[in-house]
Amino acid sequence: MLNRRKFLQFSALAAPLLTAKRSLASSFDTGNKPLVVSTWDSGMAVNAEAWKILSNKGSALDAVEAGAVHIENEINCCVGLGGYPDRDGIVTLDSCIMDHQSNCGAVAGIERIKHPVSVARKVMEKTPHVILVGAGAQQFAVENGFPLESKELSDSGKKAYEEWLKKSEYKPVINIENLPAKEGNGPFAPHFFDDGTPNHDTMGLVAMDMNGNLSGAVTTSGMAFKVHGRVGDSPIIGAGLFVDNEVGAATSSGLGEEVIRICGTHLVVEFMRQGYSPEQACKKACERIVKRDPAKAKTLQVGFLAINKKGQYGCYAIQKGFVISVKSDKENQLHQSKYLI
Ligand code: ASP
Repeated sequence: MLNRRKFLQFSALAAPLLTAKRSLASSFDTGNKPLVVSTWDSGMAVNAEAWKILSNKGSALDAVEAGAVHIENEINCCVGLGGYPDRDGIVTLDSCIMDHQSNCGAVAGIERIKHPVSVARKVMEKTPHVILVGAGAQQFAVENGFPLESKELSDSGKKAYEEWLKKSEYKPVINIENLPAKEGNGPFAPHFFDDGTPNHDTMGLVAMDMNGNLSGAVTTSGMAFKVHGRVGDSPIIGAGLFVDNEVGAATSSGLGEEVIRICGTHLVVEFMRQGYSPEQACKKACERIVKRDPAKAKTLQVGFLAINKKGQYGCYAIQKGFVISVKSDKENQLHQSKYLI
């Protein structure tokens, strides 16, 4: 079975990747709306889905949900049920969504549900709560009409798990993407363990609609081979995602524990409130992580991306290899992030 990178090469997802121009992220100003920005190269296809809604005067909220749903449908992708399991061989998913009025919803550690982002939206819209976890989240999903899917791992998830079981080595570190390119890895540096196993691939996206309203969503199977029950930054409002309609929105990918520790995306938005550009704000958040433990920071990756109310966007990462996908009226391309180390 194809691994995700090979799969991408043969799927429709690959088309925009192959034609996309690359640039090194700096200060960007689209100067217009709408705008959608998402993590990683897989964000190109996600943006295309979101754009269908944004370009038809739809809301940023609907657009980010549609983008996340799109990638959750990819069978052999490290997001959604096709993702990599925890160390017990179970896929547990984390997701959240936030709108321009600071409404938000999230699910963490949810099993056998294909579209956690849509469950997160239901939590936001139908309950007085923000986060539902585990069995309770699953029960809520089923009560709201989401089908319970099979426990079976995807082919790629199963293969990776069987490989991992050989050593059962617990590596709670999101690796650095700057590894030697391997055949079939796609156009950008891969995010793989040394043995070739990909260990993360969170989809986070933020958007501004034609009315200038901001929203964001995140969906992930989290860190591969994590301890069962571990929750990363992705479903935590203020860590993996934050939206403030007066200022901007930000999302993250990488080692969630480090992002949670600094309330990463909230911090990015607060830096933008102080007047920093999206790129500067992301950089300052990365610096905050590195400052706490510079030696540890050398061993891990975190990347932030952000947009502000002016339609400017930017990103920054601790290590080389983070990429973002950007779609506006003026562009449809990948940007390689600048990095600290
Ligand atoms: N941030 C995610 C987590 O810690 C992983 C990732 O971004 O790939 O679960």
